[in-house]
Amino acid sequence: MKMPALFVGHGAPMNAVEDNEFARKWLALGRDLPRPKAILCVSGHWVEHGVCATSSAHPSTYHDFYGFPPDYYALRYPAPGDPALAARLSEVLATPVRQDGERGLDHGVWAVLCRMYPEADVPVVQLGLDADRPLSAHYELARHLDPLRDEGILVMGSGNIVHNLSMFRLGNAAPAEWAVRFDAKVRALVAEDDVERLANPGALGDDARLSVPTAEHYVPLLYALAVRRPDDTLTFFNESVSSTVSMTSFLLQ
Ligand code: ZN
Repeated sequence: MKMPALFVGHGAPMNAVEDNEFARKWLALGRDLPRPKAILCVSGHWVEHGVCATSSAHPSTYHDFYGFPPDYYALRYPAPGDPALAARLSEVLATPVRQDGERGLDHGVWAVLCRMYPEADVPVVQLGLDADRPLSAHYELARHLDPLRDEGILVMGSGNIVHNLSMFRLGNAAPAEWAVRFDAKVRALVAEDDVERLANPGALGDDARLSVPTAEHYVPLLYALAVRRPDDTLTFFNESVSSTVSMTSFLLQ
C-alpha cells in the first residue's frame, strides 16, 4: 500500500503547544492516515551545502528559535531515528548524502510531529536542504524518493508557502493582500501540478517577491509534489494566512 505524502505549513513554535485549529488538524492526520514505518522530512530550517541527513538512532530535539518562554526549550520530541534509512539515502537519491549523527530534529519537524504522533514512536529522518541547488533541482532530486512511499515511509515537506517574517505582525493581524493572492496562486498551480511554474516562484510576480523573500520555507512543497502520483487525490488543509505567513498545507494520497 502506498503511503500518503504531505506538505505542512508549520508556522511558529507555539503550534507545538497551543490548542489551535492547525494543531487539531495535525492530530487528526496522525489518527487518520495509515501508520508509517518511518517519516522522511525536510524542513525550511536545515539548509546546508550538499545533501545531508540525520543519522542518529536517537536524534535530539533542536530548539532553533529565540525569545520564547523557557517552557519551549524544555520540550522534547524523543522519536527514534532510522540510521538504516539515512544510510540508504545516497543510493535512493543517486547522490552523496552526508550522514549527520549530531544534528537533531528542528522545530519545523517536531512541532508538527509532536501533534501527529504524540507518542514519538515513529522513526524520523530529517533530510537537509542543499543550498547550492536551484529549485528545479530540488524537485528532480526529490523525485527519487517516490519508491519510499511503497515501503510505508511518509515523505513530508514542512515549510510555509508565504513566509515573510520581516513584515509579520503578531496578534490578530489581518492577512496581507499580497500574501492571500500568492497563497491562492500557489494552490491553483499545485492543483494543476504545474511544477515548472512552481519551481520558479521569482517569475510569479511582485506577490512572489514579498511572499518568498528567501526560498527555504517554500522549497519543502516541491519535495511533496515530487512524489506525487497520477492516482493521488489532492486535499488542501489549514488554508489560512495570518499576517504574512501562510499555513496552507496539502495531502497527497
Ligand atoms: Zn519555520
